[in-house]
Amino acid sequence: MASTILVVEDEPAIQELIAVNLSFAGHKALRAATVEQADTLIRAELPDLILLDWMLPGASGVSFARKLRTDERTRDIPIIMLTARSGESDKIEGLESGADDYITKPFSPKEMLARIKAVLRRRAPQLTDDLVEVGGLQLDPATHRVFGALASGPQVIDIGPTEFRLLHFFMTHTERVYSRTQLLDQVWGDHVFLEERTVDVHIRRLRHALSPAQKEHLIETVRGSGYRFSASAPRG
Ligand code: CA
Repeated sequence: MASTILVVEDEPAIQELIAVNLSFAGHKALRAATVEQADTLIRAELPDLILLDWMLPGASGVSFARKLRTDERTRDIPIIMLTARSGESDKIEGLESGADDYITKPFSPKEMLARIKAVLRRRAPQLTDDLVEVGGLQLDPATHRVFGALASGPQVIDIGPTEFRLLHFFMTHTERVYSRTQLLDQVWGDHVFLEERTVDVHIRRLRHALSPAQKEHLIETVRGSGYRFSASAPRG
């Protein structure tokens, strides 16, 4: 599945190689050569994953990873550190700074893509093609289809692309309340240029889509906070 990946790498040839390989694999690559550039890009669009070089001019990749982990908006973004170092203590420092994985240069594009896939599967299941089943709903990212289990048999749910992404996110992040701002960041990748009521519009459409399968009650409104997908929500 296509993900937005931010590459923070100051060596132009390596940055280019990574970005080209990400594009070939169907991802959208955002590029930065410094922490400042990366910061600007993240403010405009929240990436699904960051490939972060350890040695950068000015602020280091490690300190940037720490900073991302302390900010509520960015703390859940998966980070893979890129580095020429391969010492054990460096690896520990990288992981302690909040990185999810670590790739030592030089690395093959194949290894990089495999690591990205593994980290996304662990940290952002809504971005993988894995089949998800929860609350009597079955969602298949590979075919973009959703089914609801009814006594009369499986019911195909007719759903738009945005509602599909929203439902995919909810089904892989159940029982937790998300604010409208968080949903804009997680599902749309952007809370800066979109209005919060956009979320309400798509929640309404999603509930409407789920109602023939009698599953609309799984999307709960939490007053003053946002929305929650609860597999155990009572109907009625
Ligand atoms: Ca570097």
